Order: sequence, then C-alpha cells, then structure tokens
Amino acid sequence: MEFDTIAAISTPMGEGAIAIVRLSGDDSIKIADQIFRGIGGKRLTEVSTHTIHYGHLIDPRTEQVIEEVMVSIMKGPKTFTKEDVVEINCHGGIVSVNRVLQHVLAYGARLAEPGEFTKRAFLNGRIDLSQAEAVMDLIRAKTDRAMNVALGQMEGRLSKLIRGLRQEILEILAHVEVNIDYPEYDDVEEMTHNMLLEKAIYVRDELKKLLQTSQQGKILREGLSTVIVGRPNVGKSSLLNSLVQENKAIVTDIPGTTRDVIEEYVNVRGVPLRLLDTAGIRETEDIVERIGVEKSRQVLKEADLILLVLNYGDQFTKEDENLFEAVKGMDVIVIVNKTDLTQKIDMERVKELAREHKIVTTSLLEDRGVDELEEAISSLFFEGSIEAGDMTYLSNSRHIALIGQSLHTIEEAINGVEIGTPIDIVQIDITRTWELLGEVIGDSVHESLIDQLFSQFCLGK
Ligand code: GDP
Ligand code: ZN
Repeated sequence: MEFDTIAAISTPMGEGAIAIVRLSGDDSIKIADQIFRGIGGKRLTEVSTHTIHYGHLIDPRTEQVIEEVMVSIMKGPKTFTKEDVVEINCHGGIVSVNRVLQHVLAYGARLAEPGEFTKRAFLNGRIDLSQAEAVMDLIRAKTDRAMNVALGQMEGRLSKLIRGLRQEILEILAHVEVNIDYPEYDDVEEMTHNMLLEKAIYVRDELKKLLQTSQQGKILREGLSTVIVGRPNVGKSSLLNSLVQENKAIVTDIPGTTRDVIEEYVNVRGVPLRLLDTAGIRETEDIVERIGVEKSRQVLKEADLILLVLNYGDQFTKEDENLFEAVKGMDVIVIVNKTDLTQKIDMERVKELAREHKIVTTSLLEDRGVDELEEAISSLFFEGSIEAGDMTYLSNSRHIALIGQSLHTIEEAINGVEIGTPIDIVQIDITRTWELLGEVIGDSVHESLIDQLFSQFCLGK
C-alpha cells in the first residue's frame, strides 16, 4: 500500500525530558534530510537503517540552527508501521517540540490524525486489529499490571488464541461440507456428528474461559471499585490515608471528584483500587447520612469490594450488624481496627457474621496490619494466584461483546447437533461463530469500523 508521509509529536510512555517527533512514510527520510545537518556533513539519505545521528535541525534557506536533535533512521519494513520511520528527539519543552513539528510539516509531511501510525501498522499488515486495540489500551493503562495485559495482547496472545479456535471451526466446516456433499455415506455422517460435537464443545469451553477473565480485564483498566464502610470514628479515613500513603497513587485523567464522594486511585500489589472516599465529608457524618440510605445502597451495590471496618476497642453494635446485612453476598474484607485498645468487641460474633469473609486486624494508629490487609486484597482479586502474565485477559468491550455473541452461536450449534437439526442448518451457526471471531482480529471488518476505532487513539501513536 502507498501512503503519504505523516508526522506527529509522539512522546514516549513514562515521559522524560526528551520529546519525539515521529514521521512515517516513503518521504520521511528525504524530508528529515532536507532540514538536518549532521556532524561531519553526513546525509540521512545515505546512512544505514536503525541508526541514530546527532546534529542540528536547520532552516535550509538560511542555514540557521533551530534545534539540537538526535535523529533515528529506521527503514521499512522492520518498523512499527512497516514504512520508513524517522524519529527526531529534541528537548522536551512544548515550544521546541512544536517548532520541530511545524518545520517537518513545512517540508512535506502531513499532520497525522489520532491513531494514524497504528492504523498504518494495521493496514500494512504489521499488526492485527486486536493488537492495534491493545496499543490503545496501553496508552490508557493505569497500572503496571494493566500494562502487562495490554502488552501481552499486543504480542498477539489473544489473536493466537482466536486463530486457533477459528482453525478448529474451519475443520468442523470442512467435515460438514463433506457430509453435505456425500450424504449417502452413513459413517461420514456419524463421524461428522462426533467430531463436530467434540470440537464445538472445545471451542465453547475456551470461549467461556475467555469471557470469565473479562471482568478482571475491566477491573484492571478501571480499577476495583472499593467502598470503605463502618460506623463513625472506627478509622475509615485513617484506613484510606494509609492505603494512599503506602501505595503509589495512580494518576488518572478521570476527574477525581464527584459530587457525593471523592475517588482515589491506588495500586495495591498490582490491584488497582478505585477507593470511594468519604474524606470530604465531615467526620460526624458518614456516607449513609450524607448521601442518603437509597443512594448509599446504590454505591454499595456497584462496588466490587467492600472494606467493612469495626472497632476492636468498642462494643459490637446493632449498627455494625446492619452493615453486615447491607453487604451480604458481596466481596467483603472485615477489618477490626484499633487493636492497640483494650478489647471490647465480641470476636466470636464478628466471626459468626463474617462467615467466609476474610478478617484482618489492624492498628492504623500503630501502623500494624496494613500488610495483611493488602495481602488479603490481592489474593481476593488474583484468586488461585493468577498472574497477569500467564493468561489472556479480555479487556476490550468490543472483544467481550463479540466473544459473547460467538459463545451464543456455538452453543446454538451444539444444541442443534444434540437435537438432530439438519447439518446444513447447524452449519449456519458454526459459520457465524467463525465470522464473529474473525471480527475480533479484524479479518472481516469494514472501513468505517476501522476508522472509528483508530480515531480513538492519542495523537502520535
Ligand atoms: P472514621 O470516622 O471512621 O473515618 O475514623 P477516623 O479515621 O477519622 O478515625 C477516628 C479516630 O480514631 C481518629 O482520632 C484516629 O486517629 C483514631 N484511630 C484510627 N485508627 C486507630 C487505631 O488503630 N487505634 C487508635 N487508638 N485510634 C485510631
Ligand atoms: Zn472519616
């Protein structure tokens, strides 16, 4: 495919003092060469691929120096876009990097649309659609673990899995064809049925597994919505503070303040928590009083995790009991705080109400028990100690929807075989499953969907 040469500011992940203007396309080296004066007069058009050159960006009409730069030359196809790519590294200030960009645009490059580099990588066959979307997730990734998931996907883990399943389905379809073409052979039919069922069940089970990971995938990107509840004065704010202090607060572009509650993002051992903070509320009011019973019930219902705090140095009250009632059936960690005080709480009663929920004792005042709490949070989330690197998380809502649909069609097919539906009817569902899975990896998407997807990217990726 042939495209014009595009350019954009492409500041790398983890931003430093250096900013990069990236060019991609047939003319990118020629354009850079016009405005670059290397030490010793070396021309960029003559250097070998994948090399870096120090020099100055100049105005070729006046030979005036504009910027001190390092230029990387990478010739296609061994580049991200498969095209010739030039990266101009300059000092990170917004003014200087913009000046470099403007200069590159003045000498023949076109300003890239958001996501256009990635789109080219896709259109040039360098990456498939799920990998392209993984790039997008990577840009948005909020925690290291979320980043690993995105990276794993970028390496094509999901694509590989989907390709494998599509291969299985193709084999089913091939046999079904034989069956339809030679209906007179009974043994062919029987073989087809057995094989079809076996393979279809395999595909169904794999899709189910994949869908089960989707909830975790969503959480990795958006954070585990966590609500701290407890009677006034038990130590809720102290708990929030210690979680925020001990853990890297996650910087996010999501506005941190809603009208009723304040949200804090923290990364607890790789688990991103979106803590619903009542710190903005006066100490004597608790969340229930402040936002009303109905609304707080709603907040509780939408939470992924509840941290229920009790006071070790106080009687267990009816109010505490009501809280247990309110969070029934949810993922709860019970925290018995203030263990530095003399025990007044009835621990037997707590254990009885906590049932299968984990109980952690803390003294936030003396900074004890927080490690155990963090351990409890991470093991609750990574049940069976799942490591993000070991499996494919499904974290993209479009993928989740498509895989949900394909699970449905393969189940229809299995059901059809079991109740003896004619094979050419069953074939329709199987073909549909194959198509739906193809959409995940971009094998059967049309232009508008592609445009829509890529327009969501940040500029310069
Ligand atoms: P909240 O009303 O539930 O948010 O409780 P706070 O976090 O505001 O704490 C209420 C009071 O209990 C404050 O004076 C805290 O310093 C104190 N506190 C918090 N944790 C502990 C603890 O582990 N031991 C003791 N003795 N006091 C604590
Ligand atoms: Zn408080």
